[in-house]
Amino acid sequence: MKNLIKQARKKLKKKWKDNGYAVSKSRIGRFRRCKRQHFYAECLNLEKIKKAKPLIRGTIIHELVEYDLLKKPLSLVWKKVDKEWGKLFREEKDLYGDLPGDLKKIFKGYMLWYKNDPLKYIYVEKPFRIQFVGDILLSGVIDGIARDKSKGRWLVETKSRNNLPTERTEYSSVESALYAWAASKARLGEVKGICWNYIRAKPPTIPKVLKAGGLSKNKKIDTTWDVYRQAIKDNKLKVKDYFDMKKQLRGKENDFFDRVYIPFSKPTQRRVLEEAKLTAIEMRELDKSFVDTGNEIAYIRSIDDMKCNHCDFKGLCQAELMNLDTDFMLKKEYKDRPDGSKTIKAQKTKRLSRGRKKD
Ligand code: SF4
Repeated sequence: MKNLIKQARKKLKKKWKDNGYAVSKSRIGRFRRCKRQHFYAECLNLEKIKKAKPLIRGTIIHELVEYDLLKKPLSLVWKKVDKEWGKLFREEKDLYGDLPGDLKKIFKGYMLWYKNDPLKYIYVEKPFRIQFVGDILLSGVIDGIARDKSKGRWLVETKSRNNLPTERTEYSSVESALYAWAASKARLGEVKGICWNYIRAKPPTIPKVLKAGGLSKNKKIDTTWDVYRQAIKDNKLKVKDYFDMKKQLRGKENDFFDRVYIPFSKPTQRRVLEEAKLTAIEMRELDKSFVDTGNEIAYIRSIDDMKCNHCDFKGLCQAELMNLDTDFMLKKEYKDRPDGSKTIKAQKTKRLSRGRKKD
């Protein structure tokens, strides 16, 4: 660990000299969650070699949405997924379940549901880097800016979740306030609010084929009519025999794909922005003190078990606290994080609507 800290201080010093000190909404969020987590991820630049399933799934869904909007062949994403999947051991595949198969079903459903997307995209994956507070910069990538039918502009952020949120907690989101502010500062235009483009990370269930023939009409089935109808066709059955299911499944798509439009409230936005700025100042002071002195004690641990249970650094954090040798764990379980700057180029699009070229 001592060597790692020494190298990290050197690297951070050089990085700030070359590019300035920059924060992002995820760095702000992480720092608020737990300063120790910030230390491992941002100062030591570590990430887990084996990523958690939701993280992998979220990254792939995000990439699929982006490729779809930019009309790039989705086959490129699937090829990458298959290649990475092929490298996994059997135990790892067991851990992730049929991830590629699930993703294919989820995304097929998404494309069917938004075949006639009411949103017309102006920007997709738009990076920004702007002055934030003092000489601290704010950087990030906006998933999309789109116009609705009445020409109102919305920030669109895609999220995948095991279950779609039922409570509207997004009002105080740091992300929305920061990005709305960044959009106007980066001259991307004023936006009305944020549209959370939720995608459920569970594919709709394929109905069971009954021994007596036909498909199960279980009222509790967690699926959509598109998937159900496909199963009817796959089993060479008659759609007209399942009109009752069509009626029952009406609107079920919203359990899998949902868009929540949250208009911005100026006072809330101002408050969230001020808080984010204060966090950025505190973060820079702490990081600067670490680089100057090498003292990392001020990156204090969270005392919230809930946060620790979802933390990628739990093992490392506990080993350090118990004064155990961490070198083996560092080598076996963690690697250097790739450079945070997005490799995807900024894309200005002309009223992009969904729909893509044939693969
Ligand atoms: S395990 Fe808990 S205290 Fe340790 S870094 Fe993670 S969130 Fe922080």
